[in-house]
Amino acid sequence: MAFDSLPIDGDAIVCRGVSKTWAEGTRRAHEALRDIDLVVQPGEFVVFLGPSGCGKSTLLYLISGLETVTGGDVRFFGDPVTGPSPDRSLIFQETSLFPWLNVWQNVSFGLSLRGDPPAARKAVAEQALRHVGLVEAMDKRPDELSGGMRQRVAVARALAMRPKVLLMDEPFAALDVQTRQKMQDFLLDVWRDSGASVLFVTHHIDEAVALADRVVVFSARPGTIKAVVPISLPRPRDQFSREVERLRIDLTELLRDEVDRAFAEQEGLARTA
Ligand code: ADP
Repeated sequence: MAFDSLPIDGDAIVCRGVSKTWAEGTRRAHEALRDIDLVVQPGEFVVFLGPSGCGKSTLLYLISGLETVTGGDVRFFGDPVTGPSPDRSLIFQETSLFPWLNVWQNVSFGLSLRGDPPAARKAVAEQALRHVGLVEAMDKRPDELSGGMRQRVAVARALAMRPKVLLMDEPFAALDVQTRQKMQDFLLDVWRDSGASVLFVTHHIDEAVALADRVVVFSARPGTIKAVVPISLPRPRDQFSREVERLRIDLTELLRDEVDRAFAEQEGLARTA
């Protein structure tokens, strides 16, 4: 079956000394990340937390293979990352579904590129949509769905490719607070069933505490890893418990200076623009 646990050995992702300078060697050179060391285990849920502009998305794109490092290297189960792969699915804040395809055709689009026959594609899409609670919507068009449902279709589309790693770039940022919390619960269920590792970018402390096995806290740009905070509390986590409150305070303290630095830098950039 498509969602049986994945046969996986070794570290899912290893970043060693990863750096990224945009437009390196030009007058517009812009250092986004410096010397990132990070190891992610199979099935682990890791959240990247930090102020806007500290390089969280950049690191996700380097791991996806959509962008290339300017220093260090990224490995996926031991192999160097040299380009994008369906094994490492990326989900963005704004979902881009094809408006002229229905839900199941959108979900199975990657399989059609691979040349799978329609009946097989539909079966995989149905299974992926069952995982995200949207099997009833298989034949609907994207514009008939709410924002939360569209993001669930995006998750189903990623799952249909059976990724070993799901890369999520603030996937719920455009949703209202209540829908976002529902989506977090939903994502935790999907993640448990899939056996995949999740790397999830956010600047919301509450979201990090609700989701993560480990929170990777970034410094302001150039992004470095300031701290790694493991969270072993069982899920679903009671957001009003003393332990969660403690974590929230600790993460707020860790972020405070970085947010001030990021703010000062952005003001400086605005003055020189
Ligand atoms: P975050 O996800 O933490 O908000 P980003 O990774 O998006 O941060 O950006 C880190 C820095 O790199 C920012 O200063 C941003 O302006 C810059 N940056 C991001 N993408 C590009 C790009 N394609 N070209 C040039 N600079 C970029």
